[in-house]
Amino acid sequence: MRIMYIFNTLTRQKEKFEPIEEGKVKIYACGPTVYNYFHLGNARPFITFDTLRRYLEYKGYEVTFVQNFTDIDDKMITRAQEDGITVRALADKYIDEYYKDARGLNIEEASYHPRATETIDEIVRFVSELVDKGFAYVGNDGVYFSVEKFPEYTKLSHYDLDELIQNARKEINKKSGKRDQVDFVLWKFKKEGEPAWPSPWGEGRPGWHIECSAMARKYLGQTIDIHCGGQDLIFPHHENEIAQSEAANGKPFVHYWMHNGFITVNHSKMSKSEGNFFTVREISEKVGYMPIRLFILSSHYRSPINYSLDLVEQAGRAYERIETCWKNMQFLLDNNPDAIDEDQREALSNLVRQKQASFDEAMDDDLNTAEAMGVLFELVRELNTAMQNFKDYQAFKEAQDVLGKLLNVLGLNVSQENQVPQEVLDLVQARQDAKKNKDYASADQIRDQIEQAGYKVMDTAQGPQLEKLS
Ligand SMILES: [Zn+2]
Repeated sequence: MRIMYIFNTLTRQKEKFEPIEEGKVKIYACGPTVYNYFHLGNARPFITFDTLRRYLEYKGYEVTFVQNFTDIDDKMITRAQEDGITVRALADKYIDEYYKDARGLNIEEASYHPRATETIDEIVRFVSELVDKGFAYVGNDGVYFSVEKFPEYTKLSHYDLDELIQNARKEINKKSGKRDQVDFVLWKFKKEGEPAWPSPWGEGRPGWHIECSAMARKYLGQTIDIHCGGQDLIFPHHENEIAQSEAANGKPFVHYWMHNGFITVNHSKMSKSEGNFFTVREISEKVGYMPIRLFILSSHYRSPINYSLDLVEQAGRAYERIETCWKNMQFLLDNNPDAIDEDQREALSNLVRQKQASFDEAMDDDLNTAEAMGVLFELVRELNTAMQNFKDYQAFKEAQDVLGKLLNVLGLNVSQENQVPQEVLDLVQARQDAKKNKDYASADQIRDQIEQAGYKVMDTAQGPQLEKLS
């Protein structure tokens, strides 16, 4: 197996990827807070790390992928109150909506999609361990993690801890009973009208950071290979996850931390708080889902992306080029099952293997999907040229097989719905028969029928080719 290199936020350099257990990879990805449809900025990590998972599977690893749903927090409670429904009903609704958009974007279901509210036992146990070991204390409104007890704090964000503490001390809030402003909450005591669960410190609910530490340990164990998320999660969320997990377990939490860049609109960050966000649902209603996926993967995941609908539409046209190539190839394969030409077979086989190697090389270099996509389009161009002189069935069968594998890694599968329908293929055959019998009137009539079915038929030296009419 070729070695993959991953940029690790912890060490700020590209490192050789070596899993804890040979042939297996354990990945944890922070999931959505389910109080709304997810926006394009949220979609970027989902698409990016789904592609990481697909690529590792393509390389032969067995991947266990965990992505949580944050289904209890301040935003959930506020939104449920506004809508006059329970927090549970709100979560159920937007988890359903998450799956709809995720399916559209061809994001595979995680091995586990745990919900915070269904992991309460593990969370309470985790907090208890931190209290017992002296890393956490009970304040006035909740249980807090004592940052000064964990000297490695800020090893991920590379912030200056002393400076952070000095600045924070100036704004200590006495009401919370926090000893230090940098301390963060593990368990929040119940406020009137809020959902709550029992704990040794009274009724309450989990803080956000502890969820991920508890779920990662429950489903993946104490040390995992890769933890990923958006770069806005580095501090404090992921820094806090490290503190909690390493304090409780006494072991390294994560070997490789991967973070994707922001999506900007007019060069300022897309976020709900900025009010400049676009949901995947609304963009997909304009252009479909696949152009969104292709748009995201056209940049390196650590680079910022500036969003405009125009660029997503451009991605849509690029996706159509892939579809057209695939369909034409399928059509030629369907119509020329007996074509044999050794020279073409060898030439095409070399070309395809060379492109696949370049694709792998790009992906092994810190998941460079931008470059991999470039290779994919070169392959599509070369195949389009080769198809003008279709001579060998086996050659194109293999080429299609490889193209299919690369598309699958990027999650850009050409769906069955986009295949030429059988009735159209039958019409093309009937038209060929009519032409053979010199019944040109019927042939023309059938061509009109094909057009009514949404396809334009073109006669080439290798037989008829189809193009979808838009
Ligand atoms: Zn998380």
